[in-house]
Amino acid sequence: MFDIQKIRADFPILSRQVNGKPLVYFDNGATSQKPQVVIDAIATYYSEINANIHRGVHTLSQLATDSYEASRIKIQNHINAQFSHEVLFTSGTTHSVNLVANGFASILKADDEVLVSALEHHSNIVPWQMLCEKTGAVLKVIPMNEKGELVMADFDQLLSDKTKIVTVNHISNALGTINPIKYIIDQAHQFGAAVFIDGAQAVPHLKPNVQELDCDFYAFSGHKMCGPTGTGILYGKEAWLNKLPPYQGGGEMIKEVTFEKTTYAELPHKFEAGTPNIAGGIVLGVAIDYLNSIGFENIQKQELELLNYATEQLLSIEGLKIYGTAEEKTSVISFNIDGIHPYDIGTIVDKLGIAVRTGHHCAQPIMNFFEIPGTIRASFAFYNTKEEIDIMVEAVKKAKMMLS
Ligand code: PMP
Repeated sequence: MFDIQKIRADFPILSRQVNGKPLVYFDNGATSQKPQVVIDAIATYYSEINANIHRGVHTLSQLATDSYEASRIKIQNHINAQFSHEVLFTSGTTHSVNLVANGFASILKADDEVLVSALEHHSNIVPWQMLCEKTGAVLKVIPMNEKGELVMADFDQLLSDKTKIVTVNHISNALGTINPIKYIIDQAHQFGAAVFIDGAQAVPHLKPNVQELDCDFYAFSGHKMCGPTGTGILYGKEAWLNKLPPYQGGGEMIKEVTFEKTTYAELPHKFEAGTPNIAGGIVLGVAIDYLNSIGFENIQKQELELLNYATEQLLSIEGLKIYGTAEEKTSVISFNIDGIHPYDIGTIVDKLGIAVRTGHHCAQPIMNFFEIPGTIRASFAFYNTKEEIDIMVEAVKKAKMMLS
């Protein structure tokens, strides 16, 4: 049973006021809110377990290590990875992308090609550009169409024996487009290219199955899926993780250190230098348990209803245009109103307690494609309601009246 009032009661922040009005939180694409079980688990870790991991023989260190490693296995099962050592803890998607892009510097040669998509977040563009600058490889872009969908015919044309890695997001943060990643993975593999999937915007809405997808890498952030900030995952196939050099040197990632030579630890520790975000890693497992207790089918059903309702209501406002009208999209609506700067609307609706994001959403190439400075983005989570959408629509109408 999906009881929305019961679910909302799990999130203490949803009952606060902002600027004297009940909070309407529609900035879930930036970060999700946290349920009480997650907040409590952070306090429990620091009150009852706190110790460094993989080091001490003492009881608390063992307890912290066991909890951290149990979380890794929980995440392995959640994404259906074959081995738990294919699941690396990182500080977030950005860290995960940089880890792989940095590693590919030892693989790419001049004139090799890296394919990115036109729909990417800056964090899945810039590290690959830096890689290309370092190696002389060439960055090529899979184009998008007016609906905000990737053009697969062009992708097919771009693939060649020169392609060494293809990197795309599962779901676009700016437009909500769900990309045909299974097709992309299968086609890229025909040419022997690796595929990196940025799953930052997917994991709050669905459970990725990395073995079924057959992707080489899959990255995501904990904070967008009810978990703590500063947590993230990089899934990588064992063979690839063995092939890539370590990203950072330090404690924990070594087998033996002498001044002449250092040998590296086995996976996953080879990529986990230094003391990690132990509490965060453990609590990310708690967040995943929470999402699974709601059920991804229920989450998707609720979010689709919100998406359809909000799309219909917003389009009833004259002069309002929605960017990103892909057949396959998630609960994100990016829009503008004729002649009004998105920032001005965002500022007015904030005064009414409504949190939306305005700007380029770290996806400037998408804004350039549409020849706009930015959009207003409302991104819905399963704990949002139609009543909240009504409040936003009224607020946008009011802002429009004030600004026209
Ligand atoms: N990729 C996408 C699609 C995103 O939406 C985000 C976060 N907005 C990122 C990457 C970067 O994630 P983080 O800032 O958590 O590293």
